Amino acid sequence: MNILVLNCGSSSIKYQLLNMEAQPVLLAKGIVEKIGLPLGIFTHKPEGKEKYILEKPIPDHVDGMDLILKALTDKKYGVIASLDEIFAVGHRIAHGGEYFSHSVLIDEEVKAKIKACSEIAPLHNPAHLKGIETMERLLPTIPQVAVFDTSFHQTLPPKAFIYGIPYEYYENYSVRRYGFHGTSHKFVAEKACKILGWDITEKKIITCHLGNGASITAIDKGKSVDTSMGFTPVAGLVMGTRCGDLDTGALLYICDKKGYTSLDAVRLTNKESGVFGISGVSSDFRELTSAADAGNYRAELALDVFCYNVKKYIGAYAAVLNGVDLIIFTGGIGENDERVRNSVCTGLEYLGVEFDEAVNLKARGVDRILSTPHSKTFVMTITTDEELVIATDTLNLVK
Ligand code: AMP
Repeated sequence: MNILVLNCGSSSIKYQLLNMEAQPVLLAKGIVEKIGLPLGIFTHKPEGKEKYILEKPIPDHVDGMDLILKALTDKKYGVIASLDEIFAVGHRIAHGGEYFSHSVLIDEEVKAKIKACSEIAPLHNPAHLKGIETMERLLPTIPQVAVFDTSFHQTLPPKAFIYGIPYEYYENYSVRRYGFHGTSHKFVAEKACKILGWDITEKKIITCHLGNGASITAIDKGKSVDTSMGFTPVAGLVMGTRCGDLDTGALLYICDKKGYTSLDAVRLTNKESGVFGISGVSSDFRELTSAADAGNYRAELALDVFCYNVKKYIGAYAAVLNGVDLIIFTGGIGENDERVRNSVCTGLEYLGVEFDEAVNLKARGVDRILSTPHSKTFVMTITTDEELVIATDTLNLVK
């Protein structure tokens, strides 16, 4: 049974086709970029076959999806004989608001709710809806499922999601903490417990999803009880290009000084900030580390700020959970950057962490225990797979 996983952005469509028969197998993946711009790019990577790249104008999402479906069934680059071999489509949806605490089969009511959330996620949800409607047009008989970044965090108690502003803004405008990366936090916590033979409902876990976007979640007995991202994914940790927690007074001051509109402020805090903004070098941790090694002070400072923030959140969430049994690192940085993990875990002895630096040095892109056998608190690096979560949820709902 093949599941097509889609992540539709405003000018891009990322996709994976997975065979979910016994052990999930990736058949193909790729991306359509620069939709609506003068020149679009389509990159298709079929497993075991040559990569296919096409550059041409791709006016809208229907054209983009058309390219993907043709590539998947192409004689040379294809991986399936016909579109009938696609059992269902799973969509990554950034914002489900307070409507969705689980993945759902998409119908008219679900679409209306995703649309209602567009107001609070204007950069993401309209594009997701476009993707859903495109698939309805191109593959009208194939069921579609929505998997939300926010749903895992719907278990946050009000004390963790209410902001310190007049309550009417929550009641009338739905302004509250939602949290994101939910599929990843849930997936790595469950995977780690499976590896350790633990019952997740008895454990306190802190998951650190450290990628270009980064967030930390406190998980108590399998449920998210606090998370660092907020109303939008710009809050919490300092990230690649996002600022993370920032005094609203500082932002207003900058806006006054520079005559910025709210759109300018969105650009500043989402695209020009984070470790990129601090270093002036890059948002990529490999480039930052090379620059820091070469003596670049601001690159080193950016890395220090990042690691300090992660550590601070771990301390806060250990307090929230009244202790911690397991700290998990995932995401591109969490899975690969041993220096970041080392910096974060140095000085966590008060939490019962005994970190194995030698094991940590060699752990890249693997599932591994990074704490010593004597450590009271476990530390692990776990590879995440958000597409697999989407495919699994889709299969389960459609079956
Ligand atoms: P993600 O958004 O999860 O794909 O993560 C992207 C981030 O992971 C970028 O900052 C990359 O520099 C970082 N990253 C990926 N691979 C490595 C690596 N081998 N060492 C250090 N950082 C890495």
